[in-house]
Amino acid sequence: MLTQPRIDIAETDLHELERSLEAAGRPRFHARQIFQWIHRRGVTDFAAMTDIGRQLREQLNDGFMVTTPQVVRQERSTDGTTKFLLRLADGKLIESVFIPDTPAMTFCLSTQVGCAMKCAFCLTGRMGIERNLTAGEIVGQVRVLTRELRMLDTRFNIVLMGMGEPLHNYEQTMKALRILADEHGMAISPRRMTLSTVGVLPALERLATEPLMPNLAISLHSTTEDQRDRLVPVNRKYGLKELLDACRRFPLKRRNRITFEYVLLEGINDTPEDARRLVKLLNGIKAKVNLLPLNEAAGIPFTRPSDDRVNRFAQILADHHLTVSVRKSRGRDIRAACGQLITESSRTKAPGQQLAALMRV
Ligand code: SAH
Repeated sequence: MLTQPRIDIAETDLHELERSLEAAGRPRFHARQIFQWIHRRGVTDFAAMTDIGRQLREQLNDGFMVTTPQVVRQERSTDGTTKFLLRLADGKLIESVFIPDTPAMTFCLSTQVGCAMKCAFCLTGRMGIERNLTAGEIVGQVRVLTRELRMLDTRFNIVLMGMGEPLHNYEQTMKALRILADEHGMAISPRRMTLSTVGVLPALERLATEPLMPNLAISLHSTTEDQRDRLVPVNRKYGLKELLDACRRFPLKRRNRITFEYVLLEGINDTPEDARRLVKLLNGIKAKVNLLPLNEAAGIPFTRPSDDRVNRFAQILADHHLTVSVRKSRGRDIRAACGQLITESSRTKAPGQQLAALMRV
């Protein structure tokens, strides 16, 4: 008899699991039990799933498995932020970050190994893209963090702001969000999820039609086409104007708003004129602005503006009735802050990657 590869339940949603069980000649109602064990209780060992008959538990091992990322290292910042270095089944490394009290507990997840977007101020972009994460690897980060932090019974938010561009890995990202939201699993409300994107337009248009709708954050970072072309290169394909038009059309639930992230780079995009242009651009959009004073890193050719400059920028937005927040940089001492996630690849590195690898502490 040919041996079939085992089905990885980490990658299946509940319906797929029901179908696979049926195909294996098992009653489908067990799917819900297994799904609950894995996603609600973090148990991936079939032998420990005690409400399933012993015989079936043993048989499950033949046809099924559950893959979970391995923790390689945990680093805890003085502010409580904890960065997890995780190894995937093929040896690739990713990072996930736990950020306490912001004011909620937040898990910052990766969606790709590396990133193809090459934003000028982001270290992850230096790695280039190695591959997309699977839905199971995205969900697996949550399973690992809840286990390691003993947070199975604690509420938390999810932000897709780790390594990678979620809309560049649309299918797997959305599948992961559906698994995370499933009422039989972790049952995380989409209101607690935020998808952050540079604005890959076709994918953004598709997101607008999804039944499961996370909060949306747009990495804007610039107020002119020319400058955004340079800072966020995907702008050369999907320009600022089209992006903002898509945001205007984006369906928002009552009282919900789109967050616009704006990294502040001294002398580049942090002048009062920039602030006033930003106000104009966001006119007519239900928006709030999250200012991200640059997290500096060796090899990133920009400077973080002084607090005075940041406050002046924020004040102009506030004077024009925009809701504005300034992101407190978390976990800088362990390089867990925005745009600082980077892992060494196992293959030969390009010069930019070698540079980044050298900068690891
Ligand atoms: N690819 C997604 C998620 C990336 S990370 C996106 O671009 O939205 C989340 C945010 O951190 C983005 O707004 C990103 O532009 C920002 N960021 C990247 N590098 C940064 C740095 N060095 N300092 C501050 N913010 C940074």
